[in-house]
Amino acid sequence: MHSLLLISAPGAGKGMISKYLKQKYNFVLISIGNLLREKSSKDKAISEILKNGGFVDNDIVYDLFEDIIKKNQNSNFIFDGFPRKLDQIDNFEKIMNKYGIILDMVIYIDTNEEIVKERIKGRLLCPNCNEVYNKYLDKIENNKCKSCNVDLVKRDDDKMSTYKLRYKAFIDETLPLIDYYKKKNILYKVSNNESIEKTYNQVDMLMKKGSNNDYN
Ligand SMILES: [Zn+2]
Repeated sequence: MHSLLLISAPGAGKGMISKYLKQKYNFVLISIGNLLREKSSKDKAISEILKNGGFVDNDIVYDLFEDIIKKNQNSNFIFDGFPRKLDQIDNFEKIMNKYGIILDMVIYIDTNEEIVKERIKGRLLCPNCNEVYNKYLDKIENNKCKSCNVDLVKRDDDKMSTYKLRYKAFIDETLPLIDYYKKKNILYKVSNNESIEKTYNQVDMLMKKGSNNDYN
């Protein structure tokens, strides 16, 4: 089974691009952020960490990750949010080997920090189905989810003060991963500074490149 990992600064478009890939190429999306947010509704300690923009304990992440892989065996995966630090690589690779999954491609979504800040300001989340909207781009009426009609909320980790901490954590902890995968020759860059169509085009080109890896 094959898989790809998306890496970007917080708010740079991972959610949107992973949704696109999932729908068009039949991936199972594993978003550690979503899994943690689900868990945090029942777990105060995790909820506090997320609110403060920190990283949750590795062990919790490994368990969540392995659990969801186990439930979706024989799928092709997109990973979003894990691994996000070099010290998680060993455990990530162990779990991948255990379930026979190959990481074919790491996509780094490169986005200008100022553009990201604007997007974060408009981001809204459906607490019921986890759908992410942008107030300005998605023409949201009455602040309701288009599928569930539930009131949309601002994510705790989207507050500007929290965002700055998350951005710093990205620079310090996640950027080294990009070098790691560059050396392995599986790193590809997608620029997400222009229209969404241009971004999706780049993604499609990459998928074509990987077509002998049987993504469909
Ligand atoms: Zn919803």
